[in-house]
Amino acid sequence: MTQAAPLYIAGEWLQSGRDSSAVPDPSGLPDAGRVTHATLADLDRAAEAAADAFRGWSRMSAYDRSTLLRRAADLLRDRADPIARLMVREQGKPLAEARGEVIGAADHIDWAAEEGRRLYGRMIPARMPGVLQIARKEAIGPVAGFSPWNFPVSQAVRKIAGALGAGCTIVVKCPEETPYSCVELVRCFADAGLPAGVVNLVFGQPAQISEHLIPHPGIRMISFTGSVPVGRQLGALAAARVKRATLELGGHSPFIVCEDADVEAAIKLAAGLKFRNAGQVCAAPSRFYVHEALYDAFVDGLVTAAKAIKIGNGFEPGVTMGPLANPRRLTAMERFVADATLRGGKLRAGGRRHGSAGNFFEPTVLTDVPDDAALMLEEPFGPIAPVSAFSSLDSAIQQANALPFGLAAFAFTRNFATAEKLSTELESGMISINHFGIAAPETPFGGMKESGYGSEGGTEGMEAFVTTKFTSVLGLGAAS
Ligand code: NAD
Repeated sequence: MTQAAPLYIAGEWLQSGRDSSAVPDPSGLPDAGRVTHATLADLDRAAEAAADAFRGWSRMSAYDRSTLLRRAADLLRDRADPIARLMVREQGKPLAEARGEVIGAADHIDWAAEEGRRLYGRMIPARMPGVLQIARKEAIGPVAGFSPWNFPVSQAVRKIAGALGAGCTIVVKCPEETPYSCVELVRCFADAGLPAGVVNLVFGQPAQISEHLIPHPGIRMISFTGSVPVGRQLGALAAARVKRATLELGGHSPFIVCEDADVEAAIKLAAGLKFRNAGQVCAAPSRFYVHEALYDAFVDGLVTAAKAIKIGNGFEPGVTMGPLANPRRLTAMERFVADATLRGGKLRAGGRRHGSAGNFFEPTVLTDVPDDAALMLEEPFGPIAPVSAFSSLDSAIQQANALPFGLAAFAFTRNFATAEKLSTELESGMISINHFGIAAPETPFGGMKESGYGSEGGTEGMEAFVTTKFTSVLGLGAAS
């Protein structure tokens, strides 16, 4: 990409006269391009543009907003192929996955467009005749969104479409690692005819942007997806100004295979979810607890599946796993494996860097990893699967709940009572049993404990962007 990825503020694409930084290609090829950094004046202008546009956008009929948003969704579908290609270059995932992500993002826009038309309030029966009591839902105001690099389009779209569908405007800081696909996502909204200032896109120094935008008087809410430590900082900045925050943070998701499970189905799903996007998925399973009766079969099956994965550049036909996003993740994987094996863990597949160029790491399976290993305590965010055996379901649930995180949990069982027990006792914002059933536009996505608060997706995701206003009217002459 020859042009630096631009900012989009108040309806203008901006890049000249500003600093920029390199966008590395995680596969080890020459840099994918450069990304423009916003100045403090740009950030002020973006927040003011969002605040100025809010009045008009929030008062536009939900029907008209929905028409514009659906047009943006159609443009995104039409442009899915070139956008997916940009994503492969800057993020590394296989082309088919990138395409699926873009098409899925269009679905999110359609959902938010339609759901914005159903943000009903209610009439409350009054204690006196002639009094009308109305609770209505109003857009909360301009939002500052912060989206991560693992799903450049589908993470950003949840913030943009949710905010816009509810009548909010947004300044979104998209990831500097993957700016080009985010620029094209925002271009779909611009080309759909949204008024200037409704969507604003910035890049730059992440900490400088959050420290400047969150306290800005024009911003009324933040929505962040990323790591727990950064979420803590951003949540504190929002709380200091009494601004609402949706925090979608990391997890360390348990995957429990019960004694009566269909083990082949469990292996297939475990391998698919664990190694997708090179394990860089906040809701990916990352601790596998398998009943001792199925343990050997599960480990053998997962090792076979891990060894069958074709690693490489996402453009190469047949590649099923790309590189990690940055060299920091590669170093983290090496640290997890060294620490686990030092503590007695047994390496059953992978465990090393793949090749000498790019951030490739082998799909890795470990067994006998003790609970105090770093891998069992910290979110791995990479292609490593530690597998442990259990004899009692209660002890597996206890281990699953032992960490301060609670984003997603997965389980396999053929028994409805066991499924109900898991659903009740697992401390997790999303639980999926016998299949992968999370992250659709119409279902709530979010965590509990340190995995954050608030939802994206579902009616809950729309509620996050509205506030309740109560009005009581005594009808003229009604009380006389
Ligand atoms: P990181 O914590 O440095 O950054 C994570 C994301 O937050 C990046 O997009 C970054 O630009 C942004 N960020 C960092 N500091 C910020 C600040 N002060 N203000 C605003 N944004 C800021 O970690 P990393 O090495 O880039 O990624 C690895 C970790 O991030 C993982 O361990 C994982 O927990 C987390 N992560 C989570 C998700 C998710 O979907 N929940 C996505 C990507 C990364």
